[in-house]
Amino acid sequence: MSRNLRVAIIGAGPAGFYAAAGLIKNLENVSVDIIEALPTPYGLVRYGIAPDHQKIKSVSKLYERTAADPRVNLLANVHFGRDLNLAEINKHYDAVVFTTGASSDRSLGIKGENLAGSISATDFVAWYNGLPAYKDFINKLDAKAVAVIGVGNVAVDVVRILAKSVDELATTDITDHSLDILKDSKVKDIYMIGRRGPAQAKYTTKELRELGELINADIFVDKKDLVLDEASQKIANDTRAISIQLTELDNYADRKPEGKARRVHIKFLASPSEIKGSDKVEAIVLEKNKLEPSPSGYINAVGTGQFETLPVDMVLRSVGYRGVKLPDISFDDKRGIIPNDDGRVLIEANGEIVKGQYVAGWIKRGPSGVVGTNKADAVITIKNLIEDFSNIDLTPDSNKNPEAIVQFLKDKGVEVVSFEEWKKLDEYEIAQGKKQARPRVKVVDTDKMIKIAKS
Ligand code: NAP
Repeated sequence: MSRNLRVAIIGAGPAGFYAAAGLIKNLENVSVDIIEALPTPYGLVRYGIAPDHQKIKSVSKLYERTAADPRVNLLANVHFGRDLNLAEINKHYDAVVFTTGASSDRSLGIKGENLAGSISATDFVAWYNGLPAYKDFINKLDAKAVAVIGVGNVAVDVVRILAKSVDELATTDITDHSLDILKDSKVKDIYMIGRRGPAQAKYTTKELRELGELINADIFVDKKDLVLDEASQKIANDTRAISIQLTELDNYADRKPEGKARRVHIKFLASPSEIKGSDKVEAIVLEKNKLEPSPSGYINAVGTGQFETLPVDMVLRSVGYRGVKLPDISFDDKRGIIPNDDGRVLIEANGEIVKGQYVAGWIKRGPSGVVGTNKADAVITIKNLIEDFSNIDLTPDSNKNPEAIVQFLKDKGVEVVSFEEWKKLDEYEIAQGKKQARPRVKVVDTDKMIKIAKS
């Protein structure tokens, strides 16, 4: 190669950093720009992982090492589609890897879903974790009973945040604006509702155990929900994690309530069929389900026609994240991902390859797995990218150097935040946190973030 291969990575979350790490590990003559819409890097590590799960957030130390490599630049506060379009990306880079994740949510498609008090967990998480646009998303938590729909790890996260006392949360990096609202929370009962059975729940064992360890909430499970059908019994016999979870649930069902301030109820085999209320949520109607294995082995929840109305004043839909279409980039609307063949972007599902475009992380495969899952995922994409460029002679091009794009953005009036500038904000937040024995105090206002970063 006569010059460095220039690669743009769109999105500075885990998938973006793993893609950058893969490129610098395998190519010497490469120059990578990680382009991020927010003034801060790390995506869901900062804005998704629950504030009381600090240990998982330490993965950002790894990303710092990648960012420290002279072949990698962070261009934060640069919005693909607003500050930079595809034609401009093509002019400045040889290849682009989209790692934009899944920032929207799936809907339930039931009556009453849009009533006041029915919100998505995605939005709730964005609010308490300090995504700038969500600062004023909730200004009062006067609900006494909350239904959380779904039994994945995000559902467990939001249950914990609702169930914990403010004293417990005040030691974390939860945002100050949400602590202020949560301290006046009236929540008493939190129902976490799975449409299938306990052997099909998506949470992991550690997360289920944390629910049983809540200082501020008793836990309730109905033994009747733990009676397994034949197919579920087989899953429990064959899968150690499931059998451990079932034992844990059985123990919860045996517990005597201790009169704690809050109550967490885990319910299974119930699907929301309607959210009721005149102008805000007043109740949720649940249909009792039975399980029916399909020929593929997947176990379906099927309605029985028996209904139960649960009086609640808030519904948190935690039924999965969803990718968002990017301007001029192909999109599989059904799956909420960019169609791809092992990371090579396709014009449409099973269609032609789009030259020079790649994808990694949740926008490639959908919202599944833990942070580390994105590493193996990015490795496959980067292997294919490197293979595609292995025999290409890169002709000299003055647009394809790191200074050219920075100058272009500057001329456009975009205030690019570099990694060094982000570190100033990082250090500021940590210093503010130290004063209160917290990991950090997050700055949520974008202008303030940029001001501190540029100070
Ligand atoms: P998830 O694991 O896919 O769980 C979604 C839940 O919603 C499932 O219980 C699903 O039930 C249910 N659901 C979907 N559609 C429904 C409907 N129409 N009605 C009722 N229930 C419905 O998604 P997630 O909780 O958003 O998590 C996303 C990913 O992030 C997961 O891989 C998760 O492990 C990861 N994560 C990890 C952590 C951690 O490691 N601590 C924390 C947060 C998130 P079915 O199974 O029946 O579809």
